[in-house]
Amino acid sequence: MVRQTQLFELQSGKSTQKLTFYSSLEKLNFACRRCDRCSLSQKRQQVVVGRGNIKPGIAIVGEAPGKLEDKVGQPFVGDSGKFLLKMLQAVQLDSNVYFSNIVRCRPPDNRKPYAEEVKTCKPYLIDELRLVKPKIIICAGATAVAGLTGKRESITSLRGKWLDWEGTAIMPIFHPAYLLRNPSLQKGSPKWLTWHDLIKVKLKLEKISTSV
Ligand code: URA
Repeated sequence: MVRQTQLFELQSGKSTQKLTFYSSLEKLNFACRRCDRCSLSQKRQQVVVGRGNIKPGIAIVGEAPGKLEDKVGQPFVGDSGKFLLKMLQAVQLDSNVYFSNIVRCRPPDNRKPYAEEVKTCKPYLIDELRLVKPKIIICAGATAVAGLTGKRESITSLRGKWLDWEGTAIMPIFHPAYLLRNPSLQKGSPKWLTWHDLIKVKLKLEKISTSV
């Protein structure tokens, strides 16, 4: 049985080697599917592990699985996921993406995950990101930014500004569910700002890809 502390120790900031506890995504996902380290495991239908291109240009990190994700066991398959995909398609970023979440089990009634749940699930996310090695990470919403980086600010102040996680650039964006509730495309609206954020990601990805 893997102890939580073992996962954290391997991933501690002291290590410069970016070690992973699990040696492959298959092993990581196998462990996630059996996980009962927090109470979210009691009400879930399925554990929602990452999906997509496993050598991605971009990894999208969301907040938590919703109702449909819980049913099918895959992230970003519901309405907000479909909308996010449309936006990625519009800037031709859709083929090179990996999707994951801060927590792997659905919080009841779609509430935000509690700090303790985020902390418990975080070692899985760190292993996952170290294994897939995206060139850029997009954090969808403030919960995703706080979960991955510890930075607790409103998404309005975070979005559009590059952050760093272990040498990988992070672009915080508005959560797609928020964009669905705010459909205006007027200059300065959340959707308008998100287009600009995704274009920044596209340009940076092109720059990274041509410099290697
Ligand atoms: N679906 C997910 O998997 N994550 C989110 O954050 C939203 C919808």
